[in-house]
Amino acid sequence: MMFLIRVLFFLLIANTAATAASAKKVESLRFWTAPDHTRLVFDVSSPVDYKVFVLDNPSRLVLDLSGVTFNTSLPDFSPSHKVVSLMRQGLRNKKDLRVVVDLKTIVQAKSFLLKPNADYGHRLVVDLYPQQKKSSKQATVIKKSSPSVKKNKWIVAIDAGHGGEDPGAKGHKGTREKVVVLAIAKKLATLVNQQPNMKAYLVRTGDYYIGLRKRMEKARKAHADLFVSIHADAFKDQRARGSSVYVLSNRGASSEAARWLANSENAADLVGGVSLDDKDNVLASVLLDLSQNATEDASATVASEVLKNLNGIGHVHKKQVQRAGFMVLKSPDIPSILIETAFISNRQEEARLRTSSHQRKVAKAILKGMKTYFSKQRLPSTTVAETRATYKIKRGDTLSAIAQKHRVSLSSLKKINSMKSNQIKIGQVIQIPS
Ligand SMILES: [Zn+2]
Repeated sequence: MMFLIRVLFFLLIANTAATAASAKKVESLRFWTAPDHTRLVFDVSSPVDYKVFVLDNPSRLVLDLSGVTFNTSLPDFSPSHKVVSLMRQGLRNKKDLRVVVDLKTIVQAKSFLLKPNADYGHRLVVDLYPQQKKSSKQATVIKKSSPSVKKNKWIVAIDAGHGGEDPGAKGHKGTREKVVVLAIAKKLATLVNQQPNMKAYLVRTGDYYIGLRKRMEKARKAHADLFVSIHADAFKDQRARGSSVYVLSNRGASSEAARWLANSENAADLVGGVSLDDKDNVLASVLLDLSQNATEDASATVASEVLKNLNGIGHVHKKQVQRAGFMVLKSPDIPSILIETAFISNRQEEARLRTSSHQRKVAKAILKGMKTYFSKQRLPSTTVAETRATYKIKRGDTLSAIAQKHRVSLSSLKKINSMKSNQIKIGQVIQIPS
């Protein structure tokens, strides 16, 4: 009898141990709110099997994780959060976890698993993209056709590196690159907007991740004349210090580099730029992304002006503008530079990066360099849309006569004004193709 009890006891223990070893857990849960999406991140004890689906009326997202327990608390969403109103969780079939996200809008969900990196273990990421309703789409079209204003300012896209799930480099005191570079970027934007001939566009405005390609896309949409990416360096040797400025070079290009670019970029975008374990790889991929659009000479000019001014406020890590020798894949359009403001891994520099006064100093130095660069450039006087002239119909006008007078074809004139016939009215304003 005693023996039997012992065996049973042993079996019980063995069984419990096996369950504990195989039990998958959600260990913590956080979210990041970006202007165009909300990212939910589940820290899981090991890779999980899961299903995500969206339901209507009321709008909600359901996440089923098989054989997973919930060992944390649900995050609190502010009542003013634009996408999520509430999250809840419960057990299904006595063994599976179901998480329900109550939504304020229709969303499209994207989800993927992330492997452990220096900061986190296994993760399940769910991105919620609010979908536009039909009526608001129409409003966007109307906005598009409004005439563009005359360009009288240089537009500077200021890109604070990393963000959200991607913290960037970390200092000894726990200072995070994503935090200090955003602070510098915001100070730089304020300074830029104080200039009569400059306007800032902040690529990242809060603590969320933006894909590398998306950053360039955003800058292009903002009609940026210059792209400035702000980072802070890290190195194993704590003595490394000073700032560096990088531009792209198409010298030493090779097709192997091009292939590497394609692979690593796709990977970086898929995982939110956090899968690459090597910091240098991250930097290289940012640079490679910039290279798609870089005007090498313009970039080099502005880079050396910025470096000169950074030299005035502290140490410079490398006296020359650094060039990354990767292939430029596409025709250039926006001159781009990447600034490593200081080494966050250096105790003194980390302490300085945390202070508002030093952040402002760095921003001022960057601004000074940009101003010198822009003072040597001619501001484009017109935008593309503006080159399109208009004409007001007078008595006796015919469409073909107007076309002839402006040396354009009748068909292109009709096409640009969406006209089906040659009928015109006195006082009607039509557009003339350039
Ligand atoms: Zn960085």
